[in-house]
Amino acid sequence: MTPPLCTACGRRPAVYRRRASGEALCLKCLERALTKALRRGLASLASPEYGSELVFIPLRSSPIASSGAAYLLGTLAKKYSNKVLVVGHPDSADLAAELIEGVIKERPEVVYVNISSLEPVPGPVSEARAVAESLKEIENVIAVTPITATDIILDSLIRLMIYGMRPCECALPRYLVGNAVIVSPLSRVLLTDINAYVALRGLPVTSSSRAFADVRGAGRLKNLVAELERKSPETIYRFVKFFQAVLLSDRGIPQNGGFSPSL
Ligand SMILES: [Zn+2]
Repeated sequence: MTPPLCTACGRRPAVYRRRASGEALCLKCLERALTKALRRGLASLASPEYGSELVFIPLRSSPIASSGAAYLLGTLAKKYSNKVLVVGHPDSADLAAELIEGVIKERPEVVYVNISSLEPVPGPVSEARAVAESLKEIENVIAVTPITATDIILDSLIRLMIYGMRPCECALPRYLVGNAVIVSPLSRVLLTDINAYVALRGLPVTSSSRAFADVRGAGRLKNLVAELERKSPETIYRFVKFFQAVLLSDRGIPQNGGFSPSL
């Protein structure tokens, strides 16, 4: 039986079905779709200029998305002649720099940031926020994280349901830490799409700490989100949009307390 053709280009055999859109894509068109999401996210949020410097924050707690985003960011940096600076934990920063170097043929500068604790929620959202602290004194920084919609929903649910906290402002597609603009251009992309891309492209991944491994009760929420990714990806987008709207308006949510159950 011949495999179905890619629904985007109609030429190459499809290797991956995106659940959110139903498209069956070849690797090239999957890469194109993810690059487009990255570029669109960056352009609408931070408008990096031609030749400007981009900072990439690879995340130890999200190794697969870090590899995928590093490689995709490398392709963008090559196209727009951006200089890249990688800032993160040594475990994740070296591999990200290598992946970017493979694309732009130049070793990006690397700054190591060693975070000992990721309180209160030990996942990608907190890690990105903690690393971003090290950038706040620097002027004109646009820092890109590999945070996906899946990371945001999981982080927000864990905060709400396990810790009784409101979602973190770092779940927004853009926020400021001091002078630095922290951008998560993949915040409207599912982690499962990035995972598939990294596997199909054969990109190396660091074996690092699993996100939320130490959080009691997080397993159930992880299963729930995995199920949503499979069966109802649009629900994830709706939740992420909702959390982000809540963060932006702050209406109905006590500033210094828990999440209002009557909301
Ligand atoms: Zn295609």
